Amino acid sequence: MQAEPGPKDPTDAARAEFHQTIMVAFCNALRTTQLPPITVLGLVAMALGSVYQEVAEAHRGDNPCPCGWQPDPGADVEALQAALAAMIPLPQITDLRLMQALGRA
Ligand SMILES: [Zn+2]
Repeated sequence: MQAEPGPKDPTDAARAEFHQTIMVAFCNALRTTQLPPITVLGLVAMALGSVYQEVAEAHRGDNPCPCGWQPDPGADVEALQAALAAMIPLPQITDLRLMQALGRA
């Protein structure tokens, strides 16, 4: 048996936490709505889009978040699509345009 791994990479930890949270919400929605899984997953994607919209809004205007991030909806949507595709094994995943978009994420 291997020893307990060291402190988790914060990015990996965040991804695992999102996975867990979304899986619970997905299963609840699947049960309560009786919708097909792909329809429920579409709702998950729409929720991500609305979170993006709120975060982007907080980085615009007269009193933006001071972190310096500047939303670029075209490039950002491309990066988010690439991140989604990267987790779903399909032949298109080797498409160089997707790899480049992911590199900017
Ligand atoms: Zn910020």
